[in-house]
Amino acid sequence: MTIIEALEKMKKRKTTSEQIVKDLLAKIETENPKLNAYLEVFADVLEQAKRADERRRDGEDLPLLGIPLAIKDVILVKDKIATGASKILANYKASYDATVIKKLKEAGAVLIGKTNCDEFAMGGSNENSAFGPVRNPYDLDRVSGGSSGGSAAALTAGLCLGALGSDTGGSIRQPASFCGVVGLKPTYGAVSRYGVMAMASSLDQVGPFGQTIEDTELLFKIISGHDPLDSTSQKITEDSPRKTEESSRLKIGVPESYLTDGVNPEVLANFRETLEKLKQAGHTITTVDLPSLKYSLACYYIIMPAEASTNLARYDGVRYGAYEAGDNLFQDYAKTRGQNFGAEVKRRIMLGTYVLSAGYYDAYYGRAVAVRKLIQADFEKVFKQVDVIVMPTAPTTAFKIGEKTADPLQMYLEDIFTVPANLAGVPAISIPSGKDSQGLPFGMQFFASHFRENLLFKIGRDIMK
Ligand code: GLN
Repeated sequence: MTIIEALEKMKKRKTTSEQIVKDLLAKIETENPKLNAYLEVFADVLEQAKRADERRRDGEDLPLLGIPLAIKDVILVKDKIATGASKILANYKASYDATVIKKLKEAGAVLIGKTNCDEFAMGGSNENSAFGPVRNPYDLDRVSGGSSGGSAAALTAGLCLGALGSDTGGSIRQPASFCGVVGLKPTYGAVSRYGVMAMASSLDQVGPFGQTIEDTELLFKIISGHDPLDSTSQKITEDSPRKTEESSRLKIGVPESYLTDGVNPEVLANFRETLEKLKQAGHTITTVDLPSLKYSLACYYIIMPAEASTNLARYDGVRYGAYEAGDNLFQDYAKTRGQNFGAEVKRRIMLGTYVLSAGYYDAYYGRAVAVRKLIQADFEKVFKQVDVIVMPTAPTTAFKIGEKTADPLQMYLEDIFTVPANLAGVPAISIPSGKDSQGLPFGMQFFASHFRENLLFKIGRDIMK
């Protein structure tokens, strides 16, 4: 059942939130032990559903009244444990709601629970969770994708009707692609990051997962908007630069020179077929050139760890979460962090501190920031020529658990098509586009210019209809 269908049925009194939640809980009981998608299912979920039903009976009609959603465990829900899939926060209870949670609650949503992810959202396969990997519902030997793998897998397996994730370099789009659902990384500044564990603050965005474009769009509308508590969130006014009239035919740009080595042939074939379909639907396909795009991955893997290493300094055993006592303050820090951070988090802290250290700052961090500007300029230029840019979401479909864990560079290469959107701050969406010869889902990814999510939804409707 989609969100839109559930709302219809509840309005027509054909079902209740309580009934939907009971069905979900029964499914979670059998499926979650296999998938490991939820880290916690809230004890009060049935209570929440009953309350939503009462409100509906009393004549209230909120946009998500009674709709059960799953929340990535980097997003704070008041009085609930928020681990970020890290041992260091295993027992940390959030003292307030993230703005996106406040908005979901105001819209009447029922929160089912917290979903598994890579530790502090660092990863592309969900194998970096301190609480075990999430398995792909299409093949339990394969990864769900990451870092928001729990949210994507829960939605695919029918353990929620929609979900939230976070995307710093692809963490919504790539698991959406691997699990065959829709995932949107909104424009930087479109959705508040208040109450969301920071990974790399200039790249992080919260976004929705949906089974359909309509569900994804609905969730996006509810969670987006200016928030005084996040100084990077933006006010969108009616006269913001967006075209008023949407043409039904779009100009779609393909960065051909970026689609070279290392892309799985089946992914490429599916990409070409989908382009053909878009052409038949009346859209124009043209080749575009973004010459700096080839530096995206290198640029991302300098800026992201630099910011992450700084953000993670707050987990020192004093203010949040786990504490291991040493003989002095320095040892307290070393023991707490040494024993409670996972290997990938440590790797990024080391990379980040290195690129920020005196003597290397200019050579690495300074240059990456300069290159980021070039990438942003490339996008700006191309969006004067086309409405949207298209690429596959990932160079492969879901890979086997353990296949890439021994070689971090192989894992990082999975992010080649997703990181450019975060570096440029533009919105991007992953849309299911069929399955490979092993029955694993493909994802097509579309980018639009800032605050033009409406174009992504439009193209999504054309592909999914
Ligand atoms: N896979 C990317 C990384 O490991 C993206 C993570 C994310 O978007 N949170 O950094």
